[in-house]
Amino acid sequence: MNNATSRILNVGKRKVSIIGAGFVGASIAYALTMRDIAREIVLIDTNKQKAEGEALDIRHGIPSLGVVDLYAGDYSACIDSDLIIITAGRGRKPGESRLDLANENTKILKEVVSSIQKYYTHGVIIVVSNPVDVLTYKVSEWMQLFNGNVFGTGCILDTSRMIRKIAEYLGLSTGIINGYVIGEHGDRQIPVWSHVTVSGIPIAEYCQEMDIQWNDEIKKSIFDATKHMGADIISSKGRTHYGIATCVCYLADSILNQRPTIVSVSSPMPFSMDVPEYALSVPSLIGPGGVQQRVRDKWDKEEYGQFVVAREKMIEVIKSVNQA
Ligand code: NAD
Repeated sequence: MNNATSRILNVGKRKVSIIGAGFVGASIAYALTMRDIAREIVLIDTNKQKAEGEALDIRHGIPSLGVVDLYAGDYSACIDSDLIIITAGRGRKPGESRLDLANENTKILKEVVSSIQKYYTHGVIIVVSNPVDVLTYKVSEWMQLFNGNVFGTGCILDTSRMIRKIAEYLGLSTGIINGYVIGEHGDRQIPVWSHVTVSGIPIAEYCQEMDIQWNDEIKKSIFDATKHMGADIISSKGRTHYGIATCVCYLADSILNQRPTIVSVSSPMPFSMDVPEYALSVPSLIGPGGVQQRVRDKWDKEEYGQFVVAREKMIEVIKSVNQA
């Protein structure tokens, strides 16, 4: 069966392969099951026993709460997968930055990708493993897919965290706050304050109207809390997995159920057609093909300057990973 035929035959099947059945992979499988987003989910891990245990545990909930076919499998399951989610690799220890994982997790993902390549037919690949921007670039390069079919969760989680902090500060629900974090999912993430709105009203105008204090100090304290949230959770419980699982679920729903959305994720899709970009998060239109387009919007000068710095750092890290 050629790629085109298999793609046609599998439309509507909503098959997802999750590589890595650790905390993140298992939480994603659980969230996808609870929300009935996929029809078939395969958990693939070098520790097959762990994958089998997680699959059985999730399957044995009340059947009417999720009718998905979920099982542990091997890489041959990637054939016909509409979505492949990569979560293999180790996580940060307290005190480590995400970039500290670069060399180790690049080696793991190289192995993962060569196994996927043997069976890949079509489908979007979402990279979750850290450092997600570096690994997204490398996976795109190894797969030779710079068209948005490969992308990383990037700053979607940082964006959710920032929105929650803003909502808490304003005493509002998160659904009416709009905004995003761009750049690296790490130390060089950038809050785009110039675009934050409350029900479509620029946040500074809203605060003025409601007599709520809004200044650089408040912005800094909201953003510091956002940026350190991952490390804070890791120092409390050793890892993070539920937050990212709900973000991946949202992305999977957009891809598998054709609900286009715009979120800040990481992809090396070029702004101009020929030269692949380094993978950093910008608002991106997500649909059945993954990142359909990176949205070119106008940040203010300082935000743009910080993005340039994040890009330079990314070039440096990719070079050092290539030499390792
Ligand atoms: P974990 O140690 O619980 O799980 C990792 C799993 O990968 C293990 O079960 C291991 O056996 C498996 N694995 C290792 N090599 C493999 C291979 N070659 N093929 C298949 N499976 C393999 O770790 P975790 O807490 O689930 O975290 C996984 C990754 O997700 C980490 O890199 C972590 O930093 C990252 N993460 C990313 C975000 C994000 O926002 N992008 C958030 C949280 C965690």
